[in-house]
Amino acid sequence: MAARLLLLRRVLRRVAPRAPGWATGAPAPVRAASAGGIPTDEEQATGLERKILEAMKRGEDPYSIFKPKSYAGTKEDPQIVPSVGDKRIVGCICEEDNSAIIWFWVHKGESQRCPQCGAYYKLVHHEVPP
Ligand SMILES: [Zn+2]
Repeated sequence: MAARLLLLRRVLRRVAPRAPGWATGAPAPVRAASAGGIPTDEEQATGLERKILEAMKRGEDPYSIFKPKSYAGTKEDPQIVPSVGDKRIVGCICEEDNSAIIWFWVHKGESQRCPQCGAYYKLVHHEVPP
């Protein structure tokens, strides 16, 4: 396997000597559109996609794209339910192998419990960027 990779590297050096990043391990060439290359995702993103990329650079997740953080579901550490309104419907899979989902409303204010398993859920106001 390693011998085949070395052979491939040698062939690539002969075939594409002008592509420094490929066969030599040199840094990849600049892909920026201003340099005449292919534009990156950041350079060609517009609208909502651009807002999401900029927020991800800042470490934010305004549209809940990433996996939600896990909470214990106890009264002291309730499951956080982000919402732009005063209530939100929640589906609780009470046990890992359950095939039924228990649906209920979580309202703004105090934490509320799942009627089946008793896990706590708390509604937290979430602001979506304009
Ligand atoms: Zn439950």
